[in-house]
Amino acid sequence: YSAVYELLGRSAARFPNRIALHFMGSELSYRQLWLDVQRFASALQRLGVKQGDRVSIMLPNCPQFVVAFFGASLAGAVVVNTSPMYVARELAHQLQDSGSETLIMLDAFYPRYAEVQDTVPVKRVIVTGIQDALPFPKNMLYPVRERSQGHWVDVPLGGRVFGMKALLRSQAPSPRPVQVRPDDVALLQYTGGTTGVPKGAMLTHHNLTSNALQCRAWMTDLKEGQEVLLAAIPFFHVYGMTTAQNMGLLIGATLVLVPNPRDLGMLLQLIDSRKPTMFPGVPTMYGAINQHPDTPKHDLTSIRACISGSAPLPLETARRFREITGGANLVEGYGLTESSPVTHSNPIFGEQREGSIGVPFPGVYAYVAAEDGTPLPSGEVGELYVAGPNVMAGYWQRPDETAKTMRERAGQRWLLTGDMAVMDPDGYFRIVDRKKDVIIAGGFNIYPREVEEVLYQHPAVLEAAAVGVPHPHRGETVKAFVVFRPGHSATAEQLEAYCRERLSPYKVPRLFEVRQELPKSPVGKVLRRVLADEARAGAA
Ligand code: ATP
Repeated sequence: YSAVYELLGRSAARFPNRIALHFMGSELSYRQLWLDVQRFASALQRLGVKQGDRVSIMLPNCPQFVVAFFGASLAGAVVVNTSPMYVARELAHQLQDSGSETLIMLDAFYPRYAEVQDTVPVKRVIVTGIQDALPFPKNMLYPVRERSQGHWVDVPLGGRVFGMKALLRSQAPSPRPVQVRPDDVALLQYTGGTTGVPKGAMLTHHNLTSNALQCRAWMTDLKEGQEVLLAAIPFFHVYGMTTAQNMGLLIGATLVLVPNPRDLGMLLQLIDSRKPTMFPGVPTMYGAINQHPDTPKHDLTSIRACISGSAPLPLETARRFREITGGANLVEGYGLTESSPVTHSNPIFGEQREGSIGVPFPGVYAYVAAEDGTPLPSGEVGELYVAGPNVMAGYWQRPDETAKTMRERAGQRWLLTGDMAVMDPDGYFRIVDRKKDVIIAGGFNIYPREVEEVLYQHPAVLEAAAVGVPHPHRGETVKAFVVFRPGHSATAEQLEAYCRERLSPYKVPRLFEVRQELPKSPVGKVLRRVLADEARAGAA
């Protein structure tokens, strides 16, 4: 595989009649999907998209996302994944930074683009309605609206706004072949959501295909052309792109697309009715399923293999999920945007070490480094460095940021992950915490994750996050945010006493705040930085 669209193209040749996508009751076979991809690639070329041009895609998980992604790739363009949650200002920043001249979006999102259209380089917008994917009698686009003289007015298709369905209808599946090389950039994936200014990680065709193949190699007992994969994590984030979309299509799975994973009722119903065998997800998602009152009413036993990534998997969450699915293999993996993303995982078969991210993926090199980049012995905490075919080419138009994040050593290009880790003597790794989240109180380093793990064990606690807040004498002190399980509660004194029994005194949170929910990133990761900023503003 030298280009990312081959992941789909080859499966279309091997399993033409197999259902590739299931979406809200409608289905698309691999053959139909690949034809749509070719049609869309021709349409983009006809509209003037050239090799290397950036094409932004702002869609939830739906068939049009898959068609847009592979169609743009087949036309030789660089896809720019764009979060559907972006407000106008964030969207404008990303369109400007990436220099996207083409934007593909859900019609309902159009007003956010309309607000900033004069400040961005976009020359053409392709809109699609969620219903376009369903076998409805006619094209039911939501009105596409634009602000004009202070009012929202309907925009007719035409000019620079095109309907995706009409483009697909009018086009033959015969794009002009382009010569894509493995080291060409396939995707700009913006990162920085939890730590600061967004920058575009340049992921090449080789990076993306490698990580999909590495995932396949990991899942040793999967059956090509027979699996059903629940695609609940968003494709616009690289974790969902690789472990759900790319790996799923590579193995000829049927992807059950979940447009809104927060709708747990629908998620449970889909599991019960579509019987997925694989379910890549994030800890908060598994935790929410564990807790949901409707869960016992549904049969979840079809699920066999799950990779949990993006944040630490609380041990209790994993145990309970295995129980309700009748023994699904839920293994913890680890990765980051800059490595497409997966670099480590616990083995699906073999020892799954609790609290560990497992061992490096096939083809990945990893070590724990001292400040100067030299390797530390096992058992010592340092920054995790990784290298491999899935590690990005660098950050888009940010050579300084690239230089800060990548380091040459012993003939390899190492990615500095920004995570503090420790390696067990037999090669299993543990993430201690994010380098930037370490709290320094009275000269001691406190890893918030250790505090959170203790709070998670408290019977009343559903979610917890620990952050540092300024303290006049100690520099910083620990503040904990907690969300209680429905029908449960505890006082700050009780929580503090609970921590005191299980943590050294300097690690015990002095401040507690109860929340209804914690702020989360699009993949459901708790945003500690947002809480830390709020806590600091409150303390000031
Ligand atoms: P930013 O881009 O600001 O660094 P982000 O969360 O948006 O943050 P991602 O690339 O999506 O960036 O996430 C990668 C980070 O997620 C890792 O660096 C690590 O801190 C965390 N992470 C991923 N998997 C795990 C895991 N299994 N255990 C602990 N942390 C994890």
